[in-house]
Amino acid sequence: MSEPLVERMRGFGETIFAEMSALAVRTGAINLGQGFPDEDGPRAMLDAAVEAVRSGANQYPPGPGLPELREAVAAQRLGRYGLSYDPATEVFVTVGATEGVAASMLALAEPGDEVVVFEPYYDSYAATIALAGAVRRPVTLRPDGGRFTFDPDELRAAVTSRTRVILVNSPHNPSGTVFTRAELESIAAVCREHDLIAVTDEVYEYLTFDDAEHVPLASLDGMRERTVSVSSAGKTFSVTGWKTGWVTAPAPLIRAVQTVKQFLTYAVSAPYQRAAAYALGNEVPWVEELRKSLQAKRDRLVTGLEAAGFAAYRPQGTYFVQADIRPLGFTDGMELVRELPGRAGVVAIPTQVFYDHPEAGAHFLRFAFCKRDDVIDEAVERLARLR
Ligand SMILES: *Cc1c(COP(=O)(O)O)cnc(C)c1O
Repeated sequence: MSEPLVERMRGFGETIFAEMSALAVRTGAINLGQGFPDEDGPRAMLDAAVEAVRSGANQYPPGPGLPELREAVAAQRLGRYGLSYDPATEVFVTVGATEGVAASMLALAEPGDEVVVFEPYYDSYAATIALAGAVRRPVTLRPDGGRFTFDPDELRAAVTSRTRVILVNSPHNPSGTVFTRAELESIAAVCREHDLIAVTDEVYEYLTFDDAEHVPLASLDGMRERTVSVSSAGKTFSVTGWKTGWVTAPAPLIRAVQTVKQFLTYAVSAPYQRAAAYALGNEVPWVEELRKSLQAKRDRLVTGLEAAGFAAYRPQGTYFVQADIRPLGFTDGMELVRELPGRAGVVAIPTQVFYDHPEAGAHFLRFAFCKRDDVIDEAVERLARLR
C-alpha cells in the first residue's frame, strides 16, 4: 500500500517526546524531557473527581461543558484579570488546551490562510495549523538580556494579506519567557492594524516566577473582541493527565470554535470537569504554594546546570529551562540528546525540534524542573560527568 497518511500530516511522525521517553525507559536514564510533574495535585480536588464518579457524573455532560465549570472559569477570568465573560455564551470546555487550540485553528483559518506563531513553538501548533491546511509564519524568539524575545519589526514583517490568526503562548513553552506588557502591546498593535484574530495559550498562567506577571492579551485595548483565550487545569493543578481545558472569547468566536469542537469530541469527561470547577474556586492557595516550589526547583536546576558547564537561561515561568550546550564544546543538541543517556544517564529535549528554522535552536536543550528535588539533584550530578 502507498503511504496512507494524508499529505498535509506527513513529517509529523513519532514526536520527540515519545522517542526520548522510550530512550529513558530503555536506558534507565532520568527523564527531564517531558513536562509532567511527579507529584499529585491538591488532595481535595482528587477527592472531588472520585466523588463525582461515585455520585453518578458518568453520562454525557452538556457539549459546551458543565455549567459549574463554565461559571468557575468566568469567575476566575473576572477575579484575576478583570475580564468579563458570560458563562452561558462566552466560555466552553475542551479536551485540554490542546483541543482548544486545535479547534480554534480548524475553525478560524481557511486552507491557505497564514498563522503567525512564535518559534520555538509547542509541538501541537505546527501539526494543527497543518491539519487546517493553513500556513505557518514563524517569528523567532532569540536570547536577549537573559531571556528569549522577538524583534517587533520581524513580527510586523511576518504579517501578510493572507494572515488571519496569530497564536500567542505566554508564559512560553519551551523558552520560559513571560511576555511583558510592552511585548504584548506590540502584538496587539499588529492584531488591531491587520484585523487579526489572536489565539492565546495560557496554560502556565499561574506558574510565573520572581516579579514576572502574566497579562492576558485579551485585557489589552481592542483585544477582547478578537481574542480566543485558552487554558486548562493540567499545569495549574498538576493533573496533566486530566485533559480538561477551556476557551473564553466573545460569543461569535465561541460559536465558531465550538462548531468544530463538537464534532471532534462532542463533550469533555464529566467527573474531571466537576473537580476542575472545585479547584478553580478553592485551590488557588495550593497553586501559590506550587508556584513557589517550582521557583525553587527552577533555581536548583539552573544552579546545577551551570555547575555542570551549561549556560542556562533562568525562565520567568513554565516548567522548563533552556541550556546552551556550546560552553561544553557541543554544537548540535539533537546529536547530544541521543548520546546523553549513555554519557550522563539523563534525557532532555533538543529545542531545535520546535522550529521551522532549526539552526536557530540547534545549540539548546530543554530540561524540565517539575520534578522532585532528589531527582533534580541526581540529574545535575550525573550531568557534571559531561565535562
Ligand atoms: C502542556 C501544554 C499544553 C497542553 O495542555 P492540555 O491541557 O494538557 O491539553 C498546551 N500548551 C502548552 C504550551 C503546554 O505546555
